[in-house]
Order: sequence, then structure tokens, then C-alpha cells
Amino acid sequence: MEPSPLEPVDESWENALVVVAHPDDVEFGTAAAIARWTDQGKTVVYCLVTSGEAGIDGMTPDEAREVRIGEQIASARVVGVDTVEFLGMPDGIVEYGLPLRRAITEVIRKHRPNIVITNNFRESWGGTFPNQSDHIAVGRGTLDAIRDAGNRWVFPEQLTDGVEPWGDVRQLWAAGSPDAAHGVDTTDTFDRGVESLKAHEAYLAGLGGSWANFDPVEFLEGVSRPAGTRLGVTFAAAFEVFSMSYGE
Ligand SMILES: [Zn+2]
Repeated sequence: MEPSPLEPVDESWENALVVVAHPDDVEFGTAAAIARWTDQGKTVVYCLVTSGEAGIDGMTPDEAREVRIGEQIASARVVGVDTVEFLGMPDGIVEYGLPLRRAITEVIRKHRPNIVITNNFRESWGGTFPNQSDHIAVGRGTLDAIRDAGNRWVFPEQLTDGVEPWGDVRQLWAAGSPDAAHGVDTTDTFDRGVESLKAHEAYLAGLGGSWANFDPVEFLEGVSRPAGTRLGVTFAAAFEVFSMSYGE
């Protein structure tokens, strides 16, 4: 069966907020798209729900936390992102629920994005390989927080010191979703996406098992080329688009 074509995402926006579970989540396929948008003069802010402290088998969480925060900030800089927020929730055991929604809502009200981007939060990545629990919780929590942010009666304790509800998020984009029907051309910024992933040096060095010989270029080509083919370009990032306006 021929893969279905991707429709270009709407790029008529100024500010985006990226909410993901772990340092490295953006870099596994989306960072080149972020570079394209910051090159266009758009502002992109990253929000990391955890600090990825449980991500390196040979390093204790206390040690890994600082290393991974540093690597995430460095990888963000490569693609033109200067603001990186960390919510400090526990890596590997993020729970969907009100504390998660409340924390993401606060970030949305602070940065007032037009577009919010998260990771795929479907049950799988398309094949039989199951998605990870933190990704699913964070994606669902982000979707709900977009609504919460616009409702002044939800988490009203946040609305002090000039903080207002923010109900103008137009769309949520889930990167790498198996149900993606949209995409963006990342051909020109592909190399910066690779550099951004390589900035997770300690994390990549600590990968074991079937990931032990991981090659960032090979991996990113492997996900970006099929998406590019569907979009009619060399490389692309694919997104499932959720409209946040009823009826669209
Ligand atoms: Zn992750």
C-alpha cells in the first residue's frame, strides 16, 4: 500500500510551545522543524516535564539530572530555542492527572502560544512497538491543559500578578504520530536537527542493548525520508494535527 500524502502544516503563527516528557524527545525527529521555524523569526519555547534523570542506566538520577538538563539546553540552542523550562516531574513514572494538567496550564498561560507541539501520544509508533507511558500521559495532559488554560475557573489560583487565561492555542501537533496527516519540509535544516540530537552526548553514549550502535544521522534519515516522500520533498517531520477550535 502506498503511504498517504502529507498536507503541509499551517505555518502562519508566531509563537509555539513544545511540551514533551524527556530531554531528547524533540531531537528524535522534530528538531530540524524547530530550526526551520526559528529561522523564519518565530519564537519557540521548550517545556520538559521531566529532567530525564532515569534515562541513563549507568548514572544515578541525581547525577543524570544535571547532565541531561545541560544537554537539553545545549540542543535547544542549536535550533534557535533560548527558553527551556523544566517542570521537574519524576522521569519514567509521570502520571496523567490534575497535577500534570495544572503544571502545563501554568506554562501555557505564561508563554501564550498559538501552536502547541508534543510527542506522539497514541498507543504505538505505528508498528507493534508500544509507546512509552510518560509520552502518553504528557500528550493527553497537554491536550487537556490547552483547554484548561483558556478557562478562568480552572486552576484560578494561577491568575494573579497579571496572569490571564489564554484560549488562543489554535492547534496541537503530535510529532511522529502514526496518524500523522500533516508535515513540514526539513530538508534545509536537517543537519541542524542532527547536531541538536548529538548534543545529548552522555545520553547517547549510555544507550545499550539494541540501541548500542545508534547513529543519529542514520536514525533521523530513517524517520525524515519517508515523511519527506509523503510530503514531496527530501526530508520532513510529520505531525498529527488536533484543531482546538470546535467545528474546524
Ligand atoms: Zn521520551
